[in-house]
Amino acid sequence: MLRYIFPLILFIFSFSFAKIKVATTYPYIADITQKIAKDKANVISLANGNLDPHFITPKPSLIVKLRDADLLIINGASLEIGWLPPLIRQANNPKINPNTNGFLDLSNFVELIQKPENVSRAGGDVHPEGNPHFYLNPNNIPILADAITQRLCEIDSGNCSFYKQNLNDFKKQFSEKKKVWDEKMKSLKGSKVYEYHRLYDYFLTNYQIIVAGTLEPLPGIPPTSKHLQNLIENSKDVKFILQDVYHSQDAAKFVSSKTGIPVIILPHDVGAIPEAKDIFSLFDIIVERLTK
Ligand SMILES: [Zn+2]
Repeated sequence: MLRYIFPLILFIFSFSFAKIKVATTYPYIADITQKIAKDKANVISLANGNLDPHFITPKPSLIVKLRDADLLIINGASLEIGWLPPLIRQANNPKINPNTNGFLDLSNFVELIQKPENVSRAGGDVHPEGNPHFYLNPNNIPILADAITQRLCEIDSGNCSFYKQNLNDFKKQFSEKKKVWDEKMKSLKGSKVYEYHRLYDYFLTNYQIIVAGTLEPLPGIPPTSKHLQNLIENSKDVKFILQDVYHSQDAAKFVSSKTGIPVIILPHDVGAIPEAKDIFSLFDIIVERLTK
């Protein structure tokens, strides 16, 4: 008899302490989720932070990661449209299907900017629903953390008070950090910048910095010499050229060589550069590189 009861007890014991499995598309989502769920969840990111977030290679190893997930959290606003849908289909995991509790789209909780007049990817525009890089506005982070906590509570109600306590701690810490960022960024209010891709518009708009142009003629379309020439001719009062870690720096260096405007390389996600270890240091480094 005992030899049946012991394995049974062990089984129940392990089940009650089983961690929920959360798959996220990008490292910034994984980091916020891990800070709220702590040891109650195994959290993974499908994409690495140093890659172009629009074009992640849909490797078979990513299907495996989706297969046993209890919850999938995505950025949304079409940022994953080029790589995630076939992975979800092939994972064939009913728990994370869109329109279920196991699927959370963070873009539903924020206001998108730069929504195109007619929704289409014609011309290669990779922002068909508007600008999807909303998490780089620090004001959106607590909103996203709220949405993640709410969903963790729904799928794992037994740990809800634990998640809510961690959310409070996270928001307190984030708001302390944000005071420092806001103070430092005041010096750049009203400045003009160029950027390679429309990655930092939410961040820049929040601090009243003007995007005077992008090296890409359209989001996702590589720079042309005619377009760069136009930027060079209209570069009066432009303070910086902002460059991400994953596009070629040739165009930025070319404009810089013709105008003398310095190029600043910024991380766009946790893990884009080694110093951007988490959501706090991601903003620390962006602010530091812009204001030093
Ligand atoms: Zn983009």
